Amino acid sequence: MKRQKHIVQKVINLTPETFIIRLDRGDFQFEPGQYVVIRIPDQNKGREYSIYSGINDDYLDFLVREIPEGGFSRYLRHLLPGSELDVEGPKGYFILDEKTRKGHKAMLIATGTGISPFHSYVRSYPDLNFRVLHGVHFADEAYGRESFNPDNYLLCTSRSDGGDYFGRVTYYLKENKIDADTICYLCGNSEMIDEVSTILEKYGLPPENIRTEVFF
Ligand SMILES: Cc1cc2nc3c(=O)[nH]c(=O)nc-3n(C[C@H](O)[C@H](O)[C@H](O)COP(=O)(O)OP(=O)(O)OC[C@H]3O[C@@H](n4cnc5c(N)ncnc54)[C@H](O)[C@@H]3O)c2cc1C
Repeated sequence: MKRQKHIVQKVINLTPETFIIRLDRGDFQFEPGQYVVIRIPDQNKGREYSIYSGINDDYLDFLVREIPEGGFSRYLRHLLPGSELDVEGPKGYFILDEKTRKGHKAMLIATGTGISPFHSYVRSYPDLNFRVLHGVHFADEAYGRESFNPDNYLLCTSRSDGGDYFGRVTYYLKENKIDADTICYLCGNSEMIDEVSTILEKYGLPPENIRTEVFF
C-alpha cells in the first residue's frame, strides 16, 4: 500500500468540534468515496479518514470531528501549516457504481462527519441524480451544505429544530417511503447504518441497493 508524506496547508475550523484539515495533494489519485489512513510520521499511530475533497481539487481535504477523549483527532486539529503527515492509501470500496454515476436515482444518508464521502461524490460528479439526508445534532453541523443542491438536501437535526426536519434520519425514513429501486449509500455510525438498513429492507430495497461505510 502506497504511503507518502503530505504537508498540512491549513486547518479550517467549522464548529467548536469539527474542522477541515487540508493537505497538499501532490500526485495522490483516488476515487470519490475512498479513505486513507493518516499517520503521525515515524509512528505507527494512525486513523482512517474519508476524503472530503473532489477528484479535481488540487488539495486533499478531510472533515474531522474532534473527540475530546480520543488521542488522534485532537492531534490533527492542532497541527500548524507546514507540518508533515503520512498518508496511506487510497483504500476502500465505498465508491459510486456506474449506474449511479450515469444518473440512476440515489439517496445519500449520513450522520455527522459521514457526509464526507458524499461531499467528495458531488464535488467530483456534479450531475448525479441524488438526494441527501444528513443527520446531525444541531443545525450548525450541516458541514459542506453549500456544495449540495438545496433542492436535494435535507438536514435532520435531532437536538434542536433549526434544520429541515426535527428528528433523527431514522424517524424521517420511517415517515417517508423510499422507492425500492433507489440506490442508497449510508455512512456514519454503525447504529444508524443498522437501523436504516432495516428500514430500507422493509421498503423492499434489495441488498445490492444498500451500500455502507461504517466510521465507528
Ligand atoms: C473507513 C473510516 C473512515 C473514517 N472517516 C472519518 C472522517 O472522515 N472523519 C472523522 O472525523 N472520522 C472518521 N473516521 C473515524 C476516525 O478514524 C477516528 O476514529 C476518529 O477521528 C476518532 O479518533 P480518536 O483517536 O480521536 O478517538 P478514538 O479513541 O479512536 O475514538 C473514540 C470514540 O469516538 C467516537 N468517534 C469516532 N469517530 C467519530 C466521529 N467521526 N464522529 C463522532 N464520534 C466518533 C467513537 O465512539 C469512538 O469509539 C473514520 C473511520 C473509518 C473506519
